[in-house]
Amino acid sequence: MQYSVIVVGGGIVGLATALQLIKQKPSLKILVVEKENELAKHQTGNNSGVIHSGIYYKPGSLKATNCMNGYHQLITFCREQGIPFELCGKVIVATSEEEKPLLQNLFVRGQQNGLQNLRKISAGEIKEIEPHVNGLEGIFVPQTGIVDYKLVAEKYGEVLKRQGVEIHLNEKVVNIQAGSSTTTVVTEKTSYATELVINCAGLYSDKVARLTVKDLNVKIIPFRGEYYKLKKDKEYLVKNLIYPVPDPNFPFLGVHFTRMAKGGVEAGPNAVLAFKREGYKKSQINLAELAETLAWPGFQKVAAKYWRTGMGEMYRSFSKAAFTKALQKLIPEIQENDLVDGGAGVRAQACDREGGLVDDFLILEEKNVINVCNAPSPAATSSLAIGETVSGLALKRW
Ligand SMILES: Cc1cc2nc3c(=O)[nH]c(=O)nc-3n(C[C@H](O)[C@H](O)[C@H](O)COP(=O)(O)OP(=O)(O)OC[C@H]3O[C@@H](n4cnc5c(N)ncnc54)[C@H](O)[C@@H]3O)c2cc1C
Repeated sequence: MQYSVIVVGGGIVGLATALQLIKQKPSLKILVVEKENELAKHQTGNNSGVIHSGIYYKPGSLKATNCMNGYHQLITFCREQGIPFELCGKVIVATSEEEKPLLQNLFVRGQQNGLQNLRKISAGEIKEIEPHVNGLEGIFVPQTGIVDYKLVAEKYGEVLKRQGVEIHLNEKVVNIQAGSSTTTVVTEKTSYATELVINCAGLYSDKVARLTVKDLNVKIIPFRGEYYKLKKDKEYLVKNLIYPVPDPNFPFLGVHFTRMAKGGVEAGPNAVLAFKREGYKKSQINLAELAETLAWPGFQKVAAKYWRTGMGEMYRSFSKAAFTKALQKLIPEIQENDLVDGGAGVRAQACDREGGLVDDFLILEEKNVINVCNAPSPAATSSLAIGETVSGLALKRW
């Protein structure tokens, strides 16, 4: 069988890319290859479930443009397919004097990104929206919403199958041999010929890219995000979504409270180095993967720069009391025994050799392979826009 396109990875980005391709050019013969026995088992199935508005991202960046565009496409898709979602809005809260100018910068950024009806709110107004939150001032972002991304990805899969796209589960891609016109994708079971490969392998996107790119300048560093859940009788403490002001030097948003579309309220995620790419528990270690991370020159520079933040995150990971203390900045009355374990997700964060955590989405184009090498948050919100961007690059070939 000769395919037009093989997409590696059945997470939300790979599936959205296949959707946009088949929509633009129904004659394409497309295969999605996923190593797990289900779609969306990794980042997509273990995230916070927030439909991001686009307030955080540098104006003009791929994150900003794809988030705004993807937001609208996602909502349209959910409406058409009957996937439950809610645009409940969120508050971002400054809890110290030092955070006030950062909050103001965020407000300006949101306006630059074209967000309508953003509101700066006072301590009293924060209380009207979230009665248990203590903040000096805040921003109300009306566009933010919640959805279950696992459901969204599964629905992408259903639509794809109806349109003739093949999805093969339980097939890990182990090699890619790029030829002059045909490329061979080798899996643990068989091999396939294709005109183009699109790598959307998330936590392994750099590994898959290295099958054809010799001197790839990025490595995926896995950062685990651990959650607690509020006990049922404490869920009243959170109405919707409550976020702190993020550290502008760090690519993560800080522990927040999220009412989940599938029910319950989560608190988290923190950001600790995972000792295994798909390591959802502290005890899971893959020595080869850990050694590779530690040996990467870029990681060593990141560690030297952010060791203090990293140690703090690690401490909060081991100490529930310290995690609770971080949450008390937002909701002072929350107590350690209001929280139960809530699982974890692992973020695929690209880090370049020079020591930068790559901030923007990163899509690298070769002759027969397109590698999506950095698709962290808000890539779930943005998936249909990223898919459109990638399929635009792909379709130039036909
Ligand atoms: C803790 C956490 C919270 C987040 N919160 C949000 C949020 O609230 N809102 C938001 O918009 N975004 C959020 N994100 C980001 C978002 O979830 C990810 O950016 C998005 O899911 C990335 O999708 P993906 O398809 O690239 O990766 P994945 O979902 O990880 O999919 C990649 C797939 O590739 C497969 N694969 C890997 N290697 C191979 C191989 N060799 N052969 C075959 N298959 C392979 C994997 O099994 C996997 O299924 C969060 C992420 C995390 C981890």
